[in-house]
Amino acid sequence: MSASPPALDRSATVLVAGSSGLVGSAVIRRLEARGFTSVVGARSTDVDLTDARAALDYVASVRPAVVVDAAARVGGIAANDAEPVEFLNDNLRIQTNLFAAAHAADVDRLLFLGSSCIYPKHAPQPIPESALLTGPLEETNDAYAIAKIAGVTAVRSYRRQYGRRWICAMPTNVYGPGDTFHPARSHVLPALLQRFHEARVSGAEEVVVWGTGTPRREFIHVDDLAAACLHLLDHYDDPTPVNVGVGEDLSIAELAGLVAETVGFTGRIAWDTTRPDGTPRKLLDVSRLRGTGWRPAIGLPQGLRDTHRWYVENVAPAPS
Ligand code: GDP
Repeated sequence: MSASPPALDRSATVLVAGSSGLVGSAVIRRLEARGFTSVVGARSTDVDLTDARAALDYVASVRPAVVVDAAARVGGIAANDAEPVEFLNDNLRIQTNLFAAAHAADVDRLLFLGSSCIYPKHAPQPIPESALLTGPLEETNDAYAIAKIAGVTAVRSYRRQYGRRWICAMPTNVYGPGDTFHPARSHVLPALLQRFHEARVSGAEEVVVWGTGTPRREFIHVDDLAAACLHLLDHYDDPTPVNVGVGEDLSIAELAGLVAETVGFTGRIAWDTTRPDGTPRKLLDVSRLRGTGWRPAIGLPQGLRDTHRWYVENVAPAPS
């Protein structure tokens, strides 16, 4: 297994790119809770990371010792399928510019967040890190996946050529407070929470869910992911990316049932099979992560309740 680096100095300046997003905001909460005293969040309104000059100037002005790269253009299966050009180009630009800027600023510790969609569509299950680049990708998000694979290769290259102690984490599907709730652009979990909640409030008898219900997915609460990121920065220093998951999956049909129960919807569930299913199964092999001594703490039923509460308090229209 990997060499264990020295734990991060709690007074080091940590730059979290993508700090207004689901993952970036959770990483900031975690760093602050763990006693980091100099945490800087970069939102897209603070710096446009698709602009190389802006990225260089910004990172030079912050002078971080550590960078967490949670900046990305993200979206669910429909958004990825509809806008592959933006998913490819923006993600390539963001990570290339941020890495070049971090290197120019002599940043020795960096964590890049990839995604489990980098693995081949028909990878063995659970998916080990060694499955990377062993087969064709799922077509609905191949542009995003190729960009993330380029990011993994870039991190490895900075390690090899310049000796940087940069690492990659590959999270499974992430959800939690702060998620994007949008009927067409969201990932499945927030999309269903919103749709089932609205159906319960309006008294609708039926909720339509996309696909056949048979694909299987694994979900990690964003606070668990943030904890894992910090744990890896403290304990992991190796070119192999680390899968970050919970080690269990469920079918979309089971997820729909659990979401219905969470929000109190008792009507029918209908399946729109004209919508794509995407990858049949995506369960990560988390033995490498477990080998570093980390385990998730938040189960899906609890996480769904938290996320539903956050949605009701922050996103759902107030009852008139
Ligand atoms: P993926 O994990 O990259 O495929 O991304 P998603 O989270 O968008 O979709 C996961 C699975 O949930 C796919 O099989 C979708 O067809 C299914 N799904 C069911 N209903 C929905 C929905 O309302 N929104 C989304 N995004 N996916 C849905």
